[in-house]
Amino acid sequence: MQPTLLLKNAEIVVCMDDARREIRNGSIYIRGDKIEAVGAAETLPQQADEIIDLRGHIVVPGLINTHHHMYQSLTRVIPSVQNGELFNWLTHLYPIWQKLTPEMIHVSTQTAMAELILSGCTTTSDHLYVYPNGCRLDDSIHAAATMGMRFHASRGSMSVGQKQGGLPPDSLVEKESAILEDTQRVIERYHDDSRGAMLRIVVAPCSPFSVSRELMKESAALARHYNVSMHTHLAENDSDIRYSREKFNMTPAQYVEDLGWVGHDVWHAHCVKLDEHGIALFARTGTGVAHCPCSNMRLASGIAPVRHMCDAGVNVGLGVDGSASNDSSDLIGEARQALLLQRVGFGPDAMNARQALELATRGGAKVLNRDDIGSVAPGMQADLAIFDLNSLGLAGAGHDPVAALVFCNPGQVAYSVINGKVVVRKGELAVIDLPELVSRHNKLAAQLMA
Ligand SMILES: [Zn+2]
Repeated sequence: MQPTLLLKNAEIVVCMDDARREIRNGSIYIRGDKIEAVGAAETLPQQADEIIDLRGHIVVPGLINTHHHMYQSLTRVIPSVQNGELFNWLTHLYPIWQKLTPEMIHVSTQTAMAELILSGCTTTSDHLYVYPNGCRLDDSIHAAATMGMRFHASRGSMSVGQKQGGLPPDSLVEKESAILEDTQRVIERYHDDSRGAMLRIVVAPCSPFSVSRELMKESAALARHYNVSMHTHLAENDSDIRYSREKFNMTPAQYVEDLGWVGHDVWHAHCVKLDEHGIALFARTGTGVAHCPCSNMRLASGIAPVRHMCDAGVNVGLGVDGSASNDSSDLIGEARQALLLQRVGFGPDAMNARQALELATRGGAKVLNRDDIGSVAPGMQADLAIFDLNSLGLAGAGHDPVAALVFCNPGQVAYSVINGKVVVRKGELAVIDLPELVSRHNKLAAQLMA
């Protein structure tokens, strides 16, 4: 017998279903890891193994983070890179990341996930592309399991060092044969393609300026052989475009088209400088974009044409990006920044609050190529973020509580449910001792810089 959970009497349930229902005084009935029913409170069962009264709360589908580098939580606000653009920022950080250890990967992943969960996120991707000192993707996979978070672990890689005209130091790149072998190992060991999967593996060479054309092609062949998704960085800023033109004599969009890096199983981070041809190509092929507004502003990369992408039919999700270029893992805050930045670039009607919330939920699910998360509906996985409408940041915003989640600062979640399990209860993370985690994380961050 699977346990049942009744979340009852929520002031509003934002379904993000096909009809975009917003149910007043709504309840959600969960059996095991799935939503069985959602509707007006009086129409649902009144009994369950556990009942949580949500009077004064708003429920949204668990938010989905499509781009991150969690190890970077150890290198926030490093003084020497507080004010640089992408390539300058990277070249200063590579030598520090070279000292990462497996314990650091584990603890920083837990830390980033704790922060994400408390900001409403229930599914996250992580792009790990540095593997010094015996670090493995397994370190972040094990960390995710301790947090109970739905996880798309991206096996990143860098293979073109400075000697071959790439950006990373030669000591931080891996041999291409070793990259492919280890990627195959983690797919075979961990990838779960079943509906409701808590763990999927993603094939993710870091970027066109740190891997070869051959590795991009062979990675795609490997991913498609195992039917797993592919992810990389693309068209992030002007230097990125220049590199692509000089090295490949192509725009980034032409390059990924040539490599076969387009399709429903592919998503690219940033795409700030994606051109008309790229937008049409992505729309036609179902290729996804991870929009990371804070990082794009932090590194002065530019304003991604998200309004235009959405109008053209491109799948767009949100990403907080690595904690060294954000420098926070606040996903509901990222939705706010997405809205504000589109308005700066393209006018006050470029994005509204519900559209921003949609990017963070349904949009992210599409980008990760999933149809079992991103909305509150019968048969979907039970992933929910629940905010207290009586919190300080929402005071006076009762005129439109749904929009308030994006326009205001709703603070941390009151409850989080992931795969039917209550992971945050009355504002407290139930899965880990948070003060102890932060203290351990800070010690490791100091050790890394010593
Ligand atoms: Zn990134």
